Amino acid sequence: MTPLALHVAARLHDADRVDVSDDVDRKGQFGRYENHQPDFARSQNMPDLVTENIVDVARREFALEPPATPDDQEAIPQSEYRDFWIGELETEPWDIYSISEAMAARFDINPGWAFKTARQHLNQLVLQARMRGYRQERLAGRRFRWAGPEADHPACQWIRDQIPEKGLPYHEVVELMQEAKRRFVENPPSSTHVVHDWCRHEMREVQ
Ligand SMILES: [Zn+2]
Repeated sequence: MTPLALHVAARLHDADRVDVSDDVDRKGQFGRYENHQPDFARSQNMPDLVTENIVDVARREFALEPPATPDDQEAIPQSEYRDFWIGELETEPWDIYSISEAMAARFDINPGWAFKTARQHLNQLVLQARMRGYRQERLAGRRFRWAGPEADHPACQWIRDQIPEKGLPYHEVVELMQEAKRRFVENPPSSTHVVHDWCRHEMREVQ
């Protein structure tokens, strides 16, 4: 193809979703990914298990690194990146294309880079949502407490104070753990299931 034909083909290709007056940088913005619409690309294709859990996952189990920015731009703070995902996933239907466009615009990053990042990160969040859904099904009706030795850290003392004798559902205890980390632990461990360094406490089912 001649350069002109290529140019026209690229424009036709993008015309249905991209404002063609945009700069040339956006041409073919999704590159070779555009023709592959993986299952995770759209909320309508997701099982309820995923859509019902994915926002909670973004809120409470978010562990994704924000995309790198060019040298002359400030790094994206993780909390801001998490809020971005929560906002996108709260509004159904969502899909990979609108999310990656929003990401590129919000953080002023290259659209191709945004798409690549969004694809990988959405995949990860979907996986976590699935896991969370499975756990919930398995754990439905069961109750847990924060077990172990006398609590020697304020975070663990606080968790214990929140849990009644009869225990709490698994996910409520996990939420308390995250809340305790935010409130009482400086540089908390990244694992969802560890509250503080050297912690000897654990969730145990109330029999
Ligand atoms: Zn502890």
